[in-house]
Amino acid sequence: MDSLILSKSDVEELLTMDECLNAVEHAFHLHGTGKTQMPAKIYLTFENGDLRAMPAFIEGHAGIKWVNSHPRNREKGLPTVMAILIYNDPDTGFPLAVMDATHLTNMRTGAAGGIAVKYLARKDSRTVGFVGCGMQARTQLEAIVNVAEIEKVKAYDISEGTAKDFLSFAEKFGLDGEVVEIDDACRSDILVTTTPSRTPVVKAEWIEEGTHINAIGADAPGKQELDPEILLRARVVVDDYEQAFHSGEVNVPLSEGIITKDHIFGTLGEIVAGLKKGREDDSQITVFDSTGLAIQDIATASLIYDRAVKAGKGVKFRFF
Ligand code: NAD
Repeated sequence: MDSLILSKSDVEELLTMDECLNAVEHAFHLHGTGKTQMPAKIYLTFENGDLRAMPAFIEGHAGIKWVNSHPRNREKGLPTVMAILIYNDPDTGFPLAVMDATHLTNMRTGAAGGIAVKYLARKDSRTVGFVGCGMQARTQLEAIVNVAEIEKVKAYDISEGTAKDFLSFAEKFGLDGEVVEIDDACRSDILVTTTPSRTPVVKAEWIEEGTHINAIGADAPGKQELDPEILLRARVVVDDYEQAFHSGEVNVPLSEGIITKDHIFGTLGEIVAGLKKGREDDSQITVFDSTGLAIQDIATASLIYDRAVKAGKGVKFRFF
């Protein structure tokens, strides 16, 4: 029996953001109601980055993603994040497909950010600010414009060129944009942080009432982007308790005793499933702490695999 090999360009052709948003929202619903199998990701840690193994079983679909995060890779002409996913038949364990999951990771991370905005941001949100304008910022924007009526993008990156390139990307969605200082970017209806920082880059004094923050960058122990005082003022929603405590935006403030686990309001899945409330008033500050879940990957991979089979995409390969 053959497995299907799918390249990055195959995945790019087969996956659209609106379908990815639906798949990821459904995955969060199942996670919120305890209907998924997903051990917390495990890490190998190196001097320049890390590698993570991320298995999951969700609604008849199973597989594992093997993904890195190396913040200095761009100097070497490589993406910060690269991934391969094995998609298995749960009945036999057969590897149905091996696919590039680099684009999949960017898309499913964007989709999680979009779902968080749908449930947690103010309905009248019109500006979105970015601290960090690299790869993840792009798919965050792509997902957010699907769920909110954004009119203006404010971009800040330590590399001004990267912020400018990001604004050219934003033009594709007909959005006006401006390269701004970091405090200005933070004074937005929605703030998205996608840096690999290990010290807070966003100061509490820059965050106004009613802001929603997608904190995407902190996804390994020791990483953090937000002044912990922001978390103390906010309704904090995580994607998964265990992963967030270990490696999310809350990991450092928890280990330093600045916040306790009781301060975490709930998971995005619990909110999507209606078990907990999202935003309750326009003055609330809300934070979505995203570490990235294997169920997002497998839900998206199943979509890609079905599309590939129907479209006759990919290369058939006999491993054994
Ligand atoms: P990237 O290298 O493409 O982009 C990161 C950007 O941040 C770069 O443009 C860099 O110049 C900028 N930056 C670095 N330090 C900064 C600072 N102090 N202030 C402002 N800008 C700064 O990387 P990426 O693929 O976008 O990933 C970004 C982060 O997101 C990484 O930490 C990665 O591990 C994490 N990530 C999280 C998830 C998730 O599911 N939560 C998924 C993928 C990646």
